[in-house]
Amino acid sequence: MALDVANSVVLRHDEARRIDRFDAPAQLEAFPQAAAAFCAERALFGDIIGPAPSNRSNFLELREAIDRYFRARVSGEIDDRLLVDLLEALARTLRGANGENGLDAATAHSVLRLIAMPDPERMKICSNCGWLFIDRSKNRSRAWCDMAVCGNRAKASRHYRRRKEEEAP
Ligand SMILES: [Zn+2]
Repeated sequence: MALDVANSVVLRHDEARRIDRFDAPAQLEAFPQAAAAFCAERALFGDIIGPAPSNRSNFLELREAIDRYFRARVSGEIDDRLLVDLLEALARTLRGANGENGLDAATAHSVLRLIAMPDPERMKICSNCGWLFIDRSKNRSRAWCDMAVCGNRAKASRHYRRRKEEEAP
């Protein structure tokens, strides 16, 4: 859940093309429903609702802290200051949450599970879109968040480059 929330910013690394899905309030409201269908932790949360309106800015700060901390951890740049920022954002978000079934509280609890995940090397950054994802494959060899989307796109652009090189005089 915490990674799905962090990934609500698409192409985060690309200043010109990045899209923040939560800029649209309707997307933020619709997110719990999508998470209920697709999120790996869906069985833990049951019916969740959007974050309390008064807690939105805390929730969005938590989202950014999630991305900064885990992106650094995946890159091998573990930094306790980022962890402190994350835990503080987490505490503010939990304090402002309206009960346990809000997206804000659910995300905070998901963060705690991710911090303590037993095999942190399974967390990766998609080499196509830059999303954080957990590689659950047996041989831990996944390079893309989603084979059907990013895997195919990466393969297509590699194929295209190869063709171009072959055609070049
Ligand atoms: Zn991807």
